[in-house]
Amino acid sequence: MRTALISDIHANLAALEVVLADIDRRGVDRILCLGDIVGYGPDPKECVDLVAKRCEWSLMGNHDFGVLYEPTNFNAAAESAAYWTRRQLEPSRKENGTGAEEVADATRRWDFLGQLRVRVVFGPFLCVHGSPRRPINEYIFPEDAQNSARKVQDIFKRIKPASVCLVGHTHVPGVFTDDPDFLPAAEMAEGIHRFAAGETVIVNPGSVGQPRDLDPRASYAILETGENHDPQSVQFFRLDYDIQRTVDKIKAISELSDWLGERLLQGR
Ligand code: ZN
Repeated sequence: MRTALISDIHANLAALEVVLADIDRRGVDRILCLGDIVGYGPDPKECVDLVAKRCEWSLMGNHDFGVLYEPTNFNAAAESAAYWTRRQLEPSRKENGTGAEEVADATRRWDFLGQLRVRVVFGPFLCVHGSPRRPINEYIFPEDAQNSARKVQDIFKRIKPASVCLVGHTHVPGVFTDDPDFLPAAEMAEGIHRFAAGETVIVNPGSVGQPRDLDPRASYAILETGENHDPQSVQFFRLDYDIQRTVDKIKAISELSDWLGERLLQGR
C-alpha cells in the first residue's frame, strides 16, 4: 500500500495544492495528515476543507489544539495568528457569514477539527503530532540525537520494538534511528529510506506549509507498506510552490505578523 504522509500545513493553501497535485500524479492509496492543519497561515478554511475531503484522517497538532482551546507556549506571532484563525473558523462569528449555508460550513469545519485524534495506531505504526510521550507538544529535534541522546532514547522506549513512529511538529524531514541518530531526508539517495527488518525508527515527513530546514520548498513523504502494514520504505519529496502568493496574503492580514511570511521565504 502507498500512503502519502503530509503534516504541518499551517493554513498555506498554495503549498497544499501543489503537494496534493504531486500526490495525485504519483498515485497513492490514501493520504494521512499528522496535524497542524491551521495556525500561522492565511487560508485556514480552505486547508481544513481540503484535509477533510482528501485525507483518510488527520491527527490533532498543537496549533489545531490552540485554535480550538487555548494557545499555550506560543510566541506572540503564533498566539495572534491562533486567535485570528479561531475567528475564521468558529461558527456563529460574523467573519464566517451569517447565511444558513455559511453557518453550516463553519460548523462542519469546527466539528472536523474537534474530532481530530492525538494518537492513531495501525499495524506496527504509531502516529502522533509531537512525540509518543507528549503527543501534541513535545519536539523531537534533529540535534537532540546528538545533544540530548537520553531524551531520544527515552522517547524510543515509548515505541514498541520493530515499529515505526510517524511524527510532525519540528517541520524537518528525516528519520531518527534508535542509536540515536538523525538521517536528514536531503542526504538520502533519491530521498529514500528502506526499513531494515526489525528496525525501530521515527519518521518525520517535514512540513507542507512552513519548512524549517532552510529549504523553503514544500515537503511530504510516501510510505510503502506490505501485507499487515509491514514497513518497506519511505520516500521524501520537495516541491516548489508560489511562496509569494502566501506571503502576500499574510501581509494583507494585520493579525498575521509579516515575519510569518518572511520565514516562509527563508525556510526557517
Ligand atoms: Zn507545526
